[in-house]
Amino acid sequence: MTLGPQRRRRRMLRRLAELDRLDARSASVDSSPWRPPSQAMYAVPPVARRRRLTLLPLVVTVGVTAGLLWVRTAATDQIDHVASLIPVSDARPPLAADATLARLAPQPISPGGSSGFTFMMENDLGAAAYDPCRPLHLVVNGEAAPAGADTILRDALAMVAPAAGLHVVVDGPTDERAQEKRPVVDRGRYGNRWSPALIAWTTPASDPRLDGATAGIGGSQAMTDATGRLRNVTGMVHLDGPDFTQMLTRPEGRTEAVAVVAHELVHLFGLGHVEDDGQLMGARYEGQAGLGDGDRRGLARLAAAPCARGV
Ligand SMILES: [Zn+2]
Repeated sequence: MTLGPQRRRRRMLRRLAELDRLDARSASVDSSPWRPPSQAMYAVPPVARRRRLTLLPLVVTVGVTAGLLWVRTAATDQIDHVASLIPVSDARPPLAADATLARLAPQPISPGGSSGFTFMMENDLGAAAYDPCRPLHLVVNGEAAPAGADTILRDALAMVAPAAGLHVVVDGPTDERAQEKRPVVDRGRYGNRWSPALIAWTTPASDPRLDGATAGIGGSQAMTDATGRLRNVTGMVHLDGPDFTQMLTRPEGRTEAVAVVAHELVHLFGLGHVEDDGQLMGARYEGQAGLGDGDRRGLARLAAAPCARGV
């Protein structure tokens, strides 16, 4: 069914409102009223009242920008990315053994141009980003992977990780399956550390958010560090294996597959959608094969975060 723009917008806003409430609950914040949506961003106000470490007014905007999903051009109001905040009261693992005091990959250069970008989550000190001074660890569940999945992931990482100034390490395979709610620390599986980000080739049966036209979903969970900055500490990219298998039968399928995985990885890193189909983070897939200037500027902003402290 193709929905008209007005109706689609109403449905999208409703959907966003639902997600915002979910996010507020998952962050264990209080139930004070939140502001109605302005564009696609929200203010989630209650966190500041619970914090003791800083006097900074902390307004966290959580980007659950709706997307017309990527992959198929058919109009849909499905969401392909989510971000959430881990409450500061939650126990956190000790400082990662491989955290350093200097960035591990060169700071990317922010290009000229005028295209925009959005963040998945931000506060007054900046956007939620991964620590550039420690490796970003990934594990891969290939249960429903299409043929050639490893090189698709490799090529997608080569496209976006340098632009994000991140040193990404693929630790290897995991038997952890995709699920909507994932433990941020899984001592039995990964030891006493933040769970590595999970790249899961899966199916809509495991993650119903992949139903319909959604071929991938990506995002991260953030925590406030000792300086008040939001730090992404773990995340996931769930990829609809059967969708990719079908995609790869088309002549341009592999280029598209790499672009979709790259798009979801950029959600994992911390960028949301823009209404610009010339950008990889455009809400619709219109044949983008690589990063645009807005994508690069957004990733460079994420990469500018100083080394993390206290997470
Ligand atoms: Zn997206």
